[in-house]
Amino acid sequence: MKDQTLAIHAGYDKDAQGTMAVPIYQTTAYEFRDAEHAANLFALKELGNIYTRLMNPTTDVFEKRFAALEGGVAAVGTASGMAAIFYAIANVAEAGDNIIVAKQVYGGTTTLTGHTIKRFGIETRYFDVNNPSEIEDLVDEKSKLILFESITNPSIDVADFDAIVSIANKHNILTCVDNTVATPMLCKPISLGCDIIVHSASKYTTGQGLAIGGIIVERDGLVKKIKGNSRYAHFNEPDESYHGLVYSDLPLPLFTLRVRLALLRDLGASPSPFNSWLYIQGLETLALRMKQHSSSALKIAGFLESHPRVKKVNYPGLASDKNHDLALKYFDGGYSGLLSFEVDGLDSAKAIANSTEIFKLVVNIGDSKSIITHPASTTHQQLSAQELMDAGVPAGLIRLSVGLEDTDDLIGDLTKALDA
Ligand code: PLP
Repeated sequence: MKDQTLAIHAGYDKDAQGTMAVPIYQTTAYEFRDAEHAANLFALKELGNIYTRLMNPTTDVFEKRFAALEGGVAAVGTASGMAAIFYAIANVAEAGDNIIVAKQVYGGTTTLTGHTIKRFGIETRYFDVNNPSEIEDLVDEKSKLILFESITNPSIDVADFDAIVSIANKHNILTCVDNTVATPMLCKPISLGCDIIVHSASKYTTGQGLAIGGIIVERDGLVKKIKGNSRYAHFNEPDESYHGLVYSDLPLPLFTLRVRLALLRDLGASPSPFNSWLYIQGLETLALRMKQHSSSALKIAGFLESHPRVKKVNYPGLASDKNHDLALKYFDGGYSGLLSFEVDGLDSAKAIANSTEIFKLVVNIGDSKSIITHPASTTHQQLSAQELMDAGVPAGLIRLSVGLEDTDDLIGDLTKALDA
């Protein structure tokens, strides 16, 4: 089935009432038929609901639908995009290990990888997403994950999937792609050879800035890369916290299963059923919205490129953009609604961000309402000058998340702010 059909139907068999809309199963727990049923569920002899920290029927539809859209085999929802990224890392790395991360990533991912997990003994080694061959020099036997964004936020680079995947496969390391900005409607990293996909569902998934959430998707056949692979010993050895279960021996998608059984069990950042329901509503219109976000952003990028105060526009849909060829190769149907542009210095950027009326000054992306952000003073404020440069965030950079308003009105708003 095509995306637009999957987005509306995948993962939902109507319940006993024949309910057309997916119901919200607002419950903490589930009654077992008897003690044996309970024991079987805990022992994975039977699959079923135990407790909403681990699974929930509404969240299950969201997970199955998102997995179908990404071309994956299974997914696990989380309480935020950051929780999804942290769990993807924590599922493979422990003290003494390292992960290899693109320098150009969301500010929260930079602080998580550069600071927070360092305190857990996990080292992060950074590569320039525009120069993926750097990964070769960073890999050693303790490297557990290569993490990057398909379209980077806020520098708006496009990852060279072929180059990254070929190095990762040569060394038998898992790749993890944050596909938040592109969404599966425009880019499908699994079809490009990637292993794990993470998302902030807080963005385009509802498309209206309604709820914080995340999701991790796993490709089919991942067990072949993990089974017997010494990098991932804990998937191949008995898990003492789960009565000796060996994940790589199970006939089930092992990566997301371990996130659920170990990390959601012990750390508990699971989505609320109501939020999962909101994501399901959002997915139904995701394909249509991404087309409109993309065509509006392209028009606005063209306008900004011709404005005398604008030094540079970053949008992969522009023929002049350094990522245009990669975008043509890896994207289908548009280049999303995120773009950035550079003006002369911090004060000019702040003045412009203060002057728009329709573009609201907000730290979010992927909303129907257009958003203007000045990363150097907000999302990336905690980064050092060097980290800002590495992340591709000069002081005069402004990020726009182009919403679904009329583009003539949006261009009028920017014209007023730029000409003020
Ligand atoms: N990944 C990207 C690309 C993001 O832009 C964000 C948030 O802006 C996140 C992850 C974190 O997601 P959340 O805010 O849902 O934790």
